[in-house]
Amino acid sequence: MSIKDNILYFDGQLQRTPCRLVAVSKTHPAELVKEAYDAGHRLFGENKVQELVDKYALLPHDIAWHLIGHLQTNKVKYIAEFIDTIQSVDSLKLLVEINKRAEMYGRTLPINCMLQISIADEDSKYGMTCAEAEALLQSDEYRQMKYIRITGVMGIATNTTDELKLRQEFSELRACFNRLKETFFMANDDFKEISMGMTSDWKLAVEEGSTMIRVGSGIFGARDYSKS
Ligand SMILES: *Cc1c(COP(=O)(O)O)cnc(C)c1O
Repeated sequence: MSIKDNILYFDGQLQRTPCRLVAVSKTHPAELVKEAYDAGHRLFGENKVQELVDKYALLPHDIAWHLIGHLQTNKVKYIAEFIDTIQSVDSLKLLVEINKRAEMYGRTLPINCMLQISIADEDSKYGMTCAEAEALLQSDEYRQMKYIRITGVMGIATNTTDELKLRQEFSELRACFNRLKETFFMANDDFKEISMGMTSDWKLAVEEGSTMIRVGSGIFGARDYSKS
């Protein structure tokens, strides 16, 4: 299957769902991203700042770029001008910096931010607990931010084929979304995204209420890390 076929496949699969596809292009060259673009796709995800900046420069500017990997505070400045969404916000400190840089660049649109919640056993290095996310949203600092908007939550499930476990983790993220929605965003339609599901588990994620799946190898093929 070509990249175009894969994009059309996912378009078809998601057609009658509230879920959108983030095509994760990390490690793949801009020419391959362009193939997906030419198939009509406009929503792409990258996990590293430098790679994102390089691809942004090479590709059409009507692409909505999502950063899905860990973001260091000192790198926010490189993407603040053009980034559509930062899915991997995992601290108030990072959010403060994003807000500051968005203001400095005088963006007409705020930077969309999603709170990364840790739901997996492993890899709990990044992401907040739902309680930490609540504390962030309660803080005075957050309430005063004008250049960001919180659009939802993101989570990375355990790398397992255990369906029950995956469902539990996805439903934990959905429960966190519901709690934050009820407590902080009842009157705010911007807060609507649950980003969960990747190549191996996206179908389960959609069944569990995902609004955004992040699919890399299922579109672009296997990644070759030996070249990077
Ligand atoms: C790489 C990556 C994906 C996509 O992974 P695939 O298994 O190739 O679909 C999704 N989410 C995050 C955060 C990633 O880093």
